[in-house]
Amino acid sequence: MVNRRGFARRMAATVPVLPALASMVEGGQAGGTATPPPGRGPMDGSPVGDMLPGQKWRVHDRNRTQPRKVTPGEPIPTSSAPSDAMVLFDGKDLSQWNGRGRGGVAGPPGWKVENGYIELVPRTGSLVTKDSFGDVQLHLEWMTPAGEDASRVGQFRGNSGVILMGHYEIQVLSSYNNPTYPDGSAGAIYGLYPPMVNPCLPEGQWNSYDIGFEAPRFEESKLVKPAYVTLFFNGVLVHNRMALLGTTSREPIAAYTPHPAELPLVLQGHAGPARFRNIWIRRLRGYDA
Ligand code: MG
Repeated sequence: MVNRRGFARRMAATVPVLPALASMVEGGQAGGTATPPPGRGPMDGSPVGDMLPGQKWRVHDRNRTQPRKVTPGEPIPTSSAPSDAMVLFDGKDLSQWNGRGRGGVAGPPGWKVENGYIELVPRTGSLVTKDSFGDVQLHLEWMTPAGEDASRVGQFRGNSGVILMGHYEIQVLSSYNNPTYPDGSAGAIYGLYPPMVNPCLPEGQWNSYDIGFEAPRFEESKLVKPAYVTLFFNGVLVHNRMALLGTTSREPIAAYTPHPAELPLVLQGHAGPARFRNIWIRRLRGYDA
């Protein structure tokens, strides 16, 4: 079993990718590519990790039960932004975003905007919001474009991610008909929890994520409250205020590193292809505020 660094290096050596690698070590699984080397199977990717506390599976357990498929209701949620939301992408430009490449170096965003969506461009790193956020409600829509190279399977098919605070990844992947280790499938809190069910739509169709996120709280270097994630995937609840063990890219299991109360949101530059649209975010101020 190759370790994560070896996995990333092999991907980098065999395909067009990957200035984003260093930034993804901070927030999301490493790697990024366009075409896998021959012989890759659907379960290839990051290595198996430790036993997950309270679960009977290891991180990236290849034997874990695949999430049960559910056909979402119609239409999936695609509402425009509420009046108190910050619009992060309205179909026109990337003015709310920076790019971030190898070594975490910031620069202009390398992803392209066309036809009202953002498209991940391999080898250009991740997208990072200019603003920082803590507790939020986040809406976005994403798709894996149809017609991808059929030899790309598993983690190599449509991989991107929504990385809250640059540390906590909700996976984006082609998961309608593309098995992988379940805690790496679309809607997974990467390496911790698969989605409870799989409501992913076929390639070429838009999916939606509606996320409730509570940022972790630290006092000095001590964790005093974990991060919590709630996710409606195409209107279907797949995580119900799940407590996170920490930064999802950490191996052999997620662990917290103290960080500021607010940090930028990241869209992960990984294998792709992936498109995003209608992205808005609301800061949660609590009751009576
Ligand atoms: Mg990903």
